[in-house]
Amino acid sequence: MSEKLHKVTIDRSRCCGYGLCAAICPDVYKLDADGIVYLEIDFVPAGMEEAAIEGAAVCPAEAIHVTPPMP
Ligand code: SF4
Repeated sequence: MSEKLHKVTIDRSRCCGYGLCAAICPDVYKLDADGIVYLEIDFVPAGMEEAAIEGAAVCPAEAIHVTPPMP
């Protein structure tokens, strides 16, 4: 089922802890105690695609990539 969902990858080494991603899409992007992003799930739940993509787009470190499902 998850192969039909957008996939999320993060590069924690790029993250500088601004938290913008988590502010926009807290269901997908979580922040650890140091404010660095991490994922509890690596796919976007249905209906949250727009927020997940926006959260990735606002990241000043370009640390997040959201990949649409294969057709
Ligand atoms: S927006 Fe980017 S730099 Fe900021 S916490 Fe999220 S991943 Fe890290």
